[in-house]
Amino acid sequence: MSDRVLVVNCGSSSLKYRLVDVAAGEALAWGLAERVGQPSGRLTHHRPGEPPDVVERALPDHGVALGAALEALDRSGPRLADAGLVAVAHRVVHGGDRFSAPVRIDDEVLGAIRELAALAPLHNPVNAVGIDVARRAFPGLPHVAVFDTAFHATLPPAAHTYAVPPQWARDHGVRRYGFHGTSHAFVSRAAAELLGRPLEEVNSVVLHLGNGASATAVAGGRSVDTSMGLTPLEGLVMGTRSGDVDPAVVAHLHRVAGLGPEEVDRALNSSSGMLALAGTNDLREVHRRIDDGDQAAALALDVFCHRVRKYVGAYLAVLGRTDAVVFTGGIGENDPVVRARSLGGLEALGIRLDAERNAARSPGARRVSADDSPVAVLVVPTDEELEMARQTVDLLAR
Ligand code: AMP
Repeated sequence: MSDRVLVVNCGSSSLKYRLVDVAAGEALAWGLAERVGQPSGRLTHHRPGEPPDVVERALPDHGVALGAALEALDRSGPRLADAGLVAVAHRVVHGGDRFSAPVRIDDEVLGAIRELAALAPLHNPVNAVGIDVARRAFPGLPHVAVFDTAFHATLPPAAHTYAVPPQWARDHGVRRYGFHGTSHAFVSRAAAELLGRPLEEVNSVVLHLGNGASATAVAGGRSVDTSMGLTPLEGLVMGTRSGDVDPAVVAHLHRVAGLGPEEVDRALNSSSGMLALAGTNDLREVHRRIDDGDQAAALALDVFCHRVRKYVGAYLAVLGRTDAVVFTGGIGENDPVVRARSLGGLEALGIRLDAERNAARSPGARRVSADDSPVAVLVVPTDEELEMARQTVDLLAR
């Protein structure tokens, strides 16, 4: 039987899971527990080609949510007891300076993940809760933490150092870490495969555009610059996050509007981005509103694409020679307008989109640039769970 890994991703009110067959590169089952900790919850369990198994019930905590997922696996299959499970992989958002690769979880590692909550207060504590409940559910299996930050451990000092008092960095960990690393790792490797060239030779700009969005400059498989920073707030415009703003905004709003730093932080993370500018964080709805003549939605899309274009230009300069610009994430994979608006008119920089290829809908990895474009433009569907499962199996084989 091949290597099978249960991938667990705990959010503040959700638990996602996926049973991955690593050798086949496919998911055997996956599901989502929603509204965990709220009075009414829901578990939706999927198997390929079958109708979903949906259970509406209260899921008071992540332990109960995982229990409901295991019951669904028993009921609708595949039963984990017979599935040849070799490990459980956990998504952990922040690895700080401490973790630059996946790691087998023991009590000490779990403690370190909890300590890193200072850098990711919304994510690491709940990631730790997921690890805790899964370790109790599967005491006999290895548990592996895969960090969103790890792929960016290769950032050179010039890219990860903020020009701030050095004691902030030394004492409080203030530096660029970068996120979405599992996606950038998967997509940059898949892009090299699509180009038919060894990863070590390929330089790419990867644009992960989903509800969260980040750009990464990847040189020969190594992250050399990335748009997210100390937290996943910096960089591109996102669904509800502002991306880059002048940090003076915090003190300014305090002076002129009496807003506290926590309040501004919350607004920049949860009620900014496309939601603030267009009134919705779903790009499909943004397009509908633009078609109906909504000026605010049109401006929001302009701002979004302008920011992407600006980072593409910056990373072409960082890389010096670029082989591919690669789109991924819900928007990157599905929105030809965003791709065209972000890269249009860049022929002088070697980027020539093919309008017909770009507009064609297709689920797979594909080239959307013209054959004579010096820089290939690719669309590569990301698969963070498969990447996590692969990294887990690789770690255990060492
Ligand atoms: P993700 O976070 O990668 O799952 O991406 C989610 C986002 O992708 C949604 O909020 C939408 O804005 C966007 N999205 C999904 N499907 C489409 C589509 N067909 N066209 C444009 N945007 C899409």
